[in-house]
Amino acid sequence: MATDYDAPRRDEADLGEDSLEELKARRVDTQAAKLDLDEADVAETFELPGADLAEEGEPTVRVLPMQSDEFRCSRCFLVHHRSQLAREENGEPICRECA
Ligand SMILES: [Zn+2]
Repeated sequence: MATDYDAPRRDEADLGEDSLEELKARRVDTQAAKLDLDEADVAETFELPGADLAEEGEPTVRVLPMQSDEFRCSRCFLVHHRSQLAREENGEPICRECA
């Protein structure tokens, strides 16, 4: 009777210990997984500055803004000095070459 009563209690205690060990193991696994993710994030962070530097190093074609004394011909789409303006058609400037 006494052994029958003690046996289940011992099993319960063992189960509790087992589950605790399991939890510990799981916690370690979670930490390991988290560590891997952090490492991946760090790798990404290291890659980003390099990408920015590469973009800055690339030669960029700078489009100069049109000057106030210039106009763009509506036919040849070239920017001419205002002195080359022949006439305007429907409000669109036309250079002497196209006129
Ligand atoms: Zn033109």
